[in-house]
Amino acid sequence: MLQQTRVAVVAERYQEFLRRFPTLVSLALAPEQDVLAVWSGLGYYRRARMLHKAAQFVSTNLGGNLPAKAEELKLLPGIGAYTAAAVASIAHGEAVAVVDGNVERVLCRIAGWEAGSRKGGGAALRRKIEELARRLLDRARPGDWNQAMMELGATVCTPRNPQCMACPLMKECKTRGEHKTPRRAPMTSRVVAYALSVRTSTAPGKRRGPSMREVLLEQRPAEVTVMPGMWELPALLHSEVPATELRMTVRHAIMQVNYYARIRTVFEDDAAAITAAGGERRWVSLREAAGMALTGLTRKVLVRAHLVAMPAAEAIARRRGRAVV
Ligand code: SF4
Repeated sequence: MLQQTRVAVVAERYQEFLRRFPTLVSLALAPEQDVLAVWSGLGYYRRARMLHKAAQFVSTNLGGNLPAKAEELKLLPGIGAYTAAAVASIAHGEAVAVVDGNVERVLCRIAGWEAGSRKGGGAALRRKIEELARRLLDRARPGDWNQAMMELGATVCTPRNPQCMACPLMKECKTRGEHKTPRRAPMTSRVVAYALSVRTSTAPGKRRGPSMREVLLEQRPAEVTVMPGMWELPALLHSEVPATELRMTVRHAIMQVNYYARIRTVFEDDAAAITAAGGERRWVSLREAAGMALTGLTRKVLVRAHLVAMPAAEAIARRRGRAVV
């Protein structure tokens, strides 16, 4: 949850996640759409899916008992070497070294190895880094050691301005600020456009308010690689939107791409003609939409259009003048 999202927001969403799914079994039994709905807006939805699949795997095959050893944890869906080592060392004290991007950078700098990225260095460098991480590991306190190394990389030995004078490893370090760390790929921009179509329900028995107003949403097909199964606004056929029709422009960053989304108000009768055919479409009451597995961009648009409420932590952060994601 913490990847690319502020702690203040995650703290609230994490509590909400635990309230909805208090046990591993309750998570395993929940429909995937419910899990994605609680995760909506946090990004990296594959993690929510894998967490759900892992809970199902543990419930079905391991009697509901989460393994404690790193080698066994790695057998679960979505758990790789990094997560397995972090859980096993921090929660169970197993002497296994964690190597995330921050630790990798610190170790490369200490040892004076040229490339600070796995891609740049290849498999041989990766093996050397893991071997060094194993050798340095404090076997008496592996969890604390791993957390300290990750924190050192995140706060002291940072990519651009390492604080070498404050670094506890300065004596051992071969580079001390002289290491050439590859630059991150620059952000790119993309313009996209979506239709915001809202109508008043004519269904009998509906009362006034959010249950009576409906928004047109579309479900991303299950076979797409990015955010399958999540709900979003229908995409417009053309990204050019006349100024008179432009409701808002929203910037939304995903990985290395800044999306500039133009949002056009579209009448119900016009929606089919000016939007691209995608997944299944439904008119959804605003009350229901708020609890659905919306993409982060769609939730952002509905919040800015005052159609669904802003999550509490986000509202507080905005009042303090800070963006949250
Ligand atoms: S001395 Fe500087 S470069 Fe070396 S590990 Fe510490 S912060 Fe990083």
